[in-house]
Amino acid sequence: MSVVMKRHVVSPQSTARGAVKTVTELEASGLVPEKSGLAAVAEKYAIGITPDILALIDPSDADDPIARQFVPTAAELITTPEERADPIGDLAHAPVEGIVHRYPDRVLLKAVHVCPVYCRFCFRREMVGPQGLGTLTPTQLDAAIGYIAEHSEIWEVILTGGDPLVLSPRRLRDLMERLAGIEHVRIVRFHTRVPVVEPERIDDAMVSALTASGKTTYVAVHANHPREFTPSARLAFRRLFEGGVALLSQSVLLKGVNDDVETLAALMRGFVENRIKPYYLHHPDLAPGTGHFRVTIEQGQALVTALRGRISGLCQPTYVLDIPGGHGKADIGAASIVGQDGCFTVRDWQGGEHEYRSGNGIPT
Ligand SMILES: *Cc1c(COP(=O)(O)O)cnc(C)c1O
Ligand code: SF4
Repeated sequence: MSVVMKRHVVSPQSTARGAVKTVTELEASGLVPEKSGLAAVAEKYAIGITPDILALIDPSDADDPIARQFVPTAAELITTPEERADPIGDLAHAPVEGIVHRYPDRVLLKAVHVCPVYCRFCFRREMVGPQGLGTLTPTQLDAAIGYIAEHSEIWEVILTGGDPLVLSPRRLRDLMERLAGIEHVRIVRFHTRVPVVEPERIDDAMVSALTASGKTTYVAVHANHPREFTPSARLAFRRLFEGGVALLSQSVLLKGVNDDVETLAALMRGFVENRIKPYYLHHPDLAPGTGHFRVTIEQGQALVTALRGRISGLCQPTYVLDIPGGHGKADIGAASIVGQDGCFTVRDWQGGEHEYRSGNGIPT
């Protein structure tokens, strides 16, 4: 199919019709060839592209960074020896269904395992999707909330999944009210792709469902490329902010999507311009069939070091690795300080090295 032809087939008007969830719909959209041979991929991993994301893809660009995140490819069938079904070790710390309790003061609550889109690099790709772990039953949800209520050290509940914002405002309000009834829970954090991929869901009912008096709500917005900040996404961020929600960012460093300093700088500035504080830049996890997205840690360190000199401190994310096996996250940015016994060498953003003595608390 010629490029001109493809552009015609995937004009924003024609894609606005509906979401793409099957290989047939994908082939009909013109984003992949008619006999794409993607059935084997679809059998293993869910497909999901929302109309907003379809409209954002440039079909004339074979390396489009938006398409690369959402359109499946045969490369996903290649699993390398180090990849694992549970790359960050969720299952090692699951006391009851739906809860992951790895750090003392906070838990993940995974109420749903579906998402409006299915990212091709997803770290939980073996658990999410229509064939995934499903939604907690009312009894399982009761047990999960009971666990939180019984553990007074839990200061923060992090709703993730799947994407918790696929739930209706009514169900989210219900969940928030139940968490609001637990005195020791002070913070409720939602990790979501919805404000970017399905921004129209962020209406007044949704915003009010996410907040409860006496608790502080954070929303960590997942975006990986500055083009994801569409006018509708910006409106969704604004509604959340004006509704009293504090906003954080979450991105994955991905080969062919954002692994260059210009793109990363524009992404981080885009967050800050939308009142979203950059939080984490994740090194890609060892999820099966995602080798084509992985950069090296050396490349990641060079990129975040370059960001430090180039853009405002407000725009700096923490570069993290979720240590395989369930050992938690570690800051993996290049160390800017080395030394011992109070005698250090500190590296500045241009690579210059400076001595620093910390003995007696009086630097010389
Ligand atoms: C990532 C993660 C958290 C949240 O970690 P923060 O550093 O607080 O963002 C909590 N629990 C588990 C199991 C996690 O994987
Ligand atoms: S939105 Fe998150 S959980 Fe869902 S597919 Fe993408 S990375 Fe995975």
